[in-house]
Amino acid sequence: MDITINADQLYGELQTLASFTDAPPPAVTRIVFSKTDMAARAYFKKLCTAASLTVREDPVGNTFARWAGREPDLPAIGTGSHTDAIPHAGAYDGTVGVLGGLEALRALQRSGYQPRRSIELVMFTSEEPTRFGIGCLGSRLLSGSLSVERARALVDKDGQSLDQVRSAAGFMGSLDDVGLSRDYYETFLELHVEQGPILEARNIPVGVVTAIAAPASLRIWIEGEGGHAGTVLMPQRHDAFLAAAQIALTVESAAKSTGAIDTVATVGVCDVFPGAVNSIPSRVKIEVDVRDIDLARRDAVLRAVDRACDEVTSQRGVKIRKEVLNVDPPAQSSARAVETLEQSCKEFQIPCLSMVSRAYHDSLFMSRITDVAMLFVRCRAGISHRSDEYASAEDIATGTRVLAHALAHLSDK
Ligand SMILES: [Zn+2]
Repeated sequence: MDITINADQLYGELQTLASFTDAPPPAVTRIVFSKTDMAARAYFKKLCTAASLTVREDPVGNTFARWAGREPDLPAIGTGSHTDAIPHAGAYDGTVGVLGGLEALRALQRSGYQPRRSIELVMFTSEEPTRFGIGCLGSRLLSGSLSVERARALVDKDGQSLDQVRSAAGFMGSLDDVGLSRDYYETFLELHVEQGPILEARNIPVGVVTAIAAPASLRIWIEGEGGHAGTVLMPQRHDAFLAAAQIALTVESAAKSTGAIDTVATVGVCDVFPGAVNSIPSRVKIEVDVRDIDLARRDAVLRAVDRACDEVTSQRGVKIRKEVLNVDPPAQSSARAVETLEQSCKEFQIPCLSMVSRAYHDSLFMSRITDVAMLFVRCRAGISHRSDEYASAEDIATGTRVLAHALAHLSDK
């Protein structure tokens, strides 16, 4: 099949999409259901309609653009990503999978190809947690990974509920109707910038993702006893910071002790009260992030953190309270979808690398209802979530071409 990607047009559309921003360009800020997000959505829908795709939106704003196949009743092949952007982000995170997905469909149309299964492009609502504090809101709801009850309880920083905000944006209907059945998609492929340095370091344009690591995160409050840094003698102390430090070191040693390079754990937040040089810390809050592609290993680290909290409580005479922010299982890509992407790379003689995604994406949640795989596009210096995020027009076109070929192959199966 002769698949030609219009790289200039695609790159131009990515730049136009980036111009819908609440931050001064080249920074992109596009928070879900803001005026700017709504304008970007309108632009995306216009492009889909121009490509003769049938556009549908669900009650939470997930947007679907369908190319009907010869056998439209078969489960469809899905592709897509997100277009929302955290404050001061770049032009490529998510958008490459949405507009690249669109160009993949247009390229197949130009080639004269007719799909057997329908091929559907998805723009997921709110992959970024900026507004409602939870990432992948749209795909969590689509896949039943977030209960409608919990979704209804979400509020933004102004105290507005998800229901209020979405209906103000024109998305009516019940959240109960967002979930998709397991036979809605046959396979889902997501094109995305790598957001890491590996492809560039290896001088390879694209990577095929075999597994997506999933995070768990905890918030831990430690309450000790404050006092004068000069007068309270060491044996009498219940220093909340030292208790936190001991837990943090356990986080590190537990992650290292699995012996697997894919186990990573971080204490990225440590708030010390009262935060004065001459005062013993009385209260500390830390936040712990643990990720692995293997659920048992990830959970072993979480258990080690639990044990450390118990030990520290008795050793140091402090009180500890824990809150689980999220514990999501990791996803394995479908072997068949991975093979299809690798085969498509081979077909075009494009070198590709087999890799793991350490960041999580909408595909993590789509994996609960269908087979998934992801295709990563090389980006500069692994930089993402910054205004200087960059991927070349050529690499984006290469990823889009591979995606198009794989979509056609899966549609025909
Ligand atoms: Zn993304």
